[in-house]
Amino acid sequence: MDGNVAPLDKIYELAQKYDAMVMVDESHSAGVVGRTGRGTTEQYNLRGKIEILTGTLGKAFGGAVGGFTTGKKEIIEMLRQRSRPYLFSNSIPPMVAGAAIEMFNLIDKTNDLQDKLHNNTAYFVEKMKAAGFDIKPTQSAICAVMLYDAKLSQDFAAALQEEGIYVTGFYYPVVPKGQARIRVQVSAAHEKEHLDRCIAAFTKIGKNLGVIK
Ligand SMILES: *Cc1c(COP(=O)(O)O)cnc(C)c1O
Repeated sequence: MDGNVAPLDKIYELAQKYDAMVMVDESHSAGVVGRTGRGTTEQYNLRGKIEILTGTLGKAFGGAVGGFTTGKKEIIEMLRQRSRPYLFSNSIPPMVAGAAIEMFNLIDKTNDLQDKLHNNTAYFVEKMKAAGFDIKPTQSAICAVMLYDAKLSQDFAAALQEEGIYVTGFYYPVVPKGQARIRVQVSAAHEKEHLDRCIAAFTKIGKNLGVIK
């Protein structure tokens, strides 16, 4: 919701101290966070040190169904025997597995999409701040445009949809009370002209609704 990242370095330190294992759900960060999109473990230089990682194929990785768990061989073996959804469900369709494998190959070949995503996000945040909006610092592709008022967030999002900008307004209990915002998800598929159009729509409606001057 905020585009923030858990302090995995400190979590890892505590796990070392207390001889604990760490599991990280990278569903939101896989493909996005870290220079090459390897997730929070890349951001904190902890690749290979976290015992269990889970992720989804349904978000940054292309929108198919399915997901994955990675970890030490022994852990994966145990999950194969014990994990309920794994034991008695149909597996993901072979074409989804095939497309996912190809997707992992593609993101290994070049970092173009990750670079573009990170540049797009930085561009969007900078221009929105310059336009007068209050945006939470983001370490992700999620940009939380803070409005603080539930009704305003809904009116603002509806007006943006009228302008052809698809965003969602969030308010309590999805976010803490008084923290209503519009969540913008920047993508590597966006070109500068798309981002500029979005910023122009935000600026127009922001002025209409008295959010910015
Ligand atoms: C989306 C999500 C999942 C589940 O992914 P699906 O592929 O949609 O089932 C798990 N954890 C988090 C944090 C998510 O955001």
